[in-house]
Amino acid sequence: MPFTLPDLPYAFDALEPYVDKMTMEIHHDKHHGAYVSNLNKALEGTEWVSKSLEEILAGVSKLPAVVKNNGGGHWNHSAFWNWMKPKGGGVPAGELANAINHDFGTFDKFKEQFTSAGMTRFGSGWAWLIFQHGKLVVASTPNQDNPLMDVADVKGVPLLGLDVWEHAYYLKYQNRRADYIAAFWNVINWDEVAKRFAVAK
Ligand code: MN
Repeated sequence: MPFTLPDLPYAFDALEPYVDKMTMEIHHDKHHGAYVSNLNKALEGTEWVSKSLEEILAGVSKLPAVVKNNGGGHWNHSAFWNWMKPKGGGVPAGELANAINHDFGTFDKFKEQFTSAGMTRFGSGWAWLIFQHGKLVVASTPNQDNPLMDVADVKGVPLLGLDVWEHAYYLKYQNRRADYIAAFWNVINWDEVAKRFAVAK
């Protein structure tokens, strides 16, 4: 089995009250767990079994949809857990803050665009901050697609992503996706975003 479910980097209830414990338990153990086991099953006995997940995503057009869905699911969620932390939020600093101000005007304008990307994604998907051709861009993708896939409409290096599938918020927020997105800003791990930006730029 090439891929394993990573532990959450904090306790299930650590993001309360913004993301509730039961959502985190089901989201991590059941949803992410299923992406990992279905991905392993789909790759079993193929030449792709020895490749990295990034290589698989970059060549996903050559693979069955089950690999795209579950491979994307595994990559997206592994990153997502680290894009949040207890006592997160606030605003970014340093080079990342400079780049956000340069490419969006202000942090609030970036926040507005990212929120809108999450709100206007119809059905299930993700909102993204990506590094693309030397600049920061906000995007969104359907399902478990991501900007690392060769089939993505918008390609780049994901610096921050927000899961807007109903399974990410429905237990606590029901249909109120806007409230969930507003709460996310209180748990963002900007150190993780800055780390990814430093590698990408
Ligand atoms: Mn999810």
